[in-house]
Amino acid sequence: MTANRVLIAEDESRIASVMADYLQASALETRLVERGDEVLDAIADWQPDLLLLDLNLPAVDGLTLCKQIRAQSRLPIIMVTARVDEIDRLLGLELGADDYICKPFSPREVVARVRAVLRRSVAANPEADPNQPLRLDRQGRSASVFGHPLNLTEVEYRLLELIAQRPGRVWSRSQLLDQAYSDYRDVSDRAIDSHIKNLRRKLDTTAPHYRWIHSVYGVGYRFEPEPVEDAT
Ligand code: CA
Repeated sequence: MTANRVLIAEDESRIASVMADYLQASALETRLVERGDEVLDAIADWQPDLLLLDLNLPAVDGLTLCKQIRAQSRLPIIMVTARVDEIDRLLGLELGADDYICKPFSPREVVARVRAVLRRSVAANPEADPNQPLRLDRQGRSASVFGHPLNLTEVEYRLLELIAQRPGRVWSRSQLLDQAYSDYRDVSDRAIDSHIKNLRRKLDTTAPHYRWIHSVYGVGYRFEPEPVEDAT
């Protein structure tokens, strides 16, 4: 098996080389570009499995690049920003990045995030079995059940993408919190409950003959589509 390739778009060479060292030590291949206008060519040329994309790059900035890439591919993207207060804005823009990392970061955190996003991108097969009631469109960040689109927020989409990968698995609130937010210090378990409640309502009203998300008392939630027993 060939190593996963991580393209690093970062103009601060010290940061880029620390990232590259740790990713290589974790058996990932890396390549570095330092300018925004080199990123698209490097993707076409090298075909990476993931892009670590600095927000502030010379020539073309990370936001513009993220939009351009998402318009044509579902290459996993982790945005890197120097300001924690930018994360909310980035999430609000719904750029379709898979995750966000704030500088200063620990190199171990970068490796962990990269590995998690790579795992997710393998697991979430976009060409889902047409017999499956739920379909996820990673590129469009949208989901549908039995062909009916669900109008999901970014956080709801992320939660659904996560839990739908492993039907039957029980997820704790803190695991969901971990996945739904890059910076979850200010987010409570209650926020997860409310996102799940909204997600469940959208699923149930779109396809009422199934039950989708089950509460697991004292623990969290489980995703498992089950036909609702006919009441008659
Ligand atoms: Ca920069």
